[in-house]
Amino acid sequence: MAAFQELNQLAQELTGESVSLPEITIKKGALDLISDYLRAQDMKNIVIVADEHTKSADGNHLYEKLEHMVMVQLEQDDNGQVIADEQTIVQLLAEVPVETDVLLAVGAGTIHDIVRFVGYKMNIPFISVPTAASVDGFTSKGAPLIFKGMKKTIQTAAPIAVFADLNVLMHAPKELTASGFGDILGKYTSLTDWKISQLVANEPYSELAAAITRQSLEACVTHVDSIGAGNEKGIRILTQALIESGMVMLVLDHSRPASGGEHHLSHYWEMELLKTNARQLLHGTKVGVSTAIITALYKENVRHYKREDISIEKLRENWEEVQQLIESLPNPERIRQLLTGAGGPSTAEELGLPGALITDSLNEAHHLRDRCTGLYIFNQLKNEQLTSLDLYRDKHQEAYKWLYR
Ligand SMILES: [Zn+2]
Repeated sequence: MAAFQELNQLAQELTGESVSLPEITIKKGALDLISDYLRAQDMKNIVIVADEHTKSADGNHLYEKLEHMVMVQLEQDDNGQVIADEQTIVQLLAEVPVETDVLLAVGAGTIHDIVRFVGYKMNIPFISVPTAASVDGFTSKGAPLIFKGMKKTIQTAAPIAVFADLNVLMHAPKELTASGFGDILGKYTSLTDWKISQLVANEPYSELAAAITRQSLEACVTHVDSIGAGNEKGIRILTQALIESGMVMLVLDHSRPASGGEHHLSHYWEMELLKTNARQLLHGTKVGVSTAIITALYKENVRHYKREDISIEKLRENWEEVQQLIESLPNPERIRQLLTGAGGPSTAEELGLPGALITDSLNEAHHLRDRCTGLYIFNQLKNEQLTSLDLYRDKHQEAYKWLYR
């Protein structure tokens, strides 16, 4: 992978040392290589962690080759979904034998988060076997978990290897691929938020980490049609981008380039759905939609304030640069077009999320994490409740042509 060299350079810049990155295989037939890898590592006691849908991702081909193999099928909730919460974590802790050499996470993001956490706590390495190009967390250390209904990201361990089989990923449900694309589109605002935070809150910032993440984003935007078509080229590019974005988080040991205000909105919605016991929406699907909403919010607000009206000193000093950063974001219409191009939903209505929840999240979600973002800043400056024109675009399209251009 081209970004490997840059990732090593990034590790050198940050720590003066190279970092051990997971071994990455992205190709058709990657699953066939796992048994040889395990043999070479002398790993004999293997636990495969999957759910009802992913346990046969490879038509049981992989499992036939593994001898001392235990299969753990994670239990679903009342909505037929696996949730990364206390119950599921305890199930896995109870079912993994202590003498296990390695865990195989066979599934999408949630299964990885559960395995990553349990493996870390039991001191057992894990291998990532994504069954859909749905999220950018496969190669990161962060495990977003739900404890007592609250989302909390815990730094745990990255996989020792990733086997991403394009035959499997190309046959994943289309909405999962569109979710992966949505997670990548969120980098538009997460990268902007990180830069704003450097200017306004003196947060450490890495040009190289931002550049690698931006390359991954741009590769996906350029090839949105192939991704939407689900062809080999599109799925390869998306999978690479998701893995690269995860590796940047791994090297940095935080998620800053990949998670900003758009992720805070998404987390807020997720917790609300949990409270009401509603069916969960895919992570990247929420992030894609929130990226369009938050872009509209940023663009509208940045035009609303004049430099001299701004009470936060560091923001006033850097106002022109903040304005430029926000103006250079694509407009919300373009973001929605891209989401649609990848085959996913692009509006809160399509997700079934009510306008009142979106408005609440715009005013409350910045409390979820101690991070300086555009969302945080506009909440500090506001005189009245924030709302996003993107929610009322049909009504406002004429008046706000500049926003939807
Ligand atoms: Zn994400």
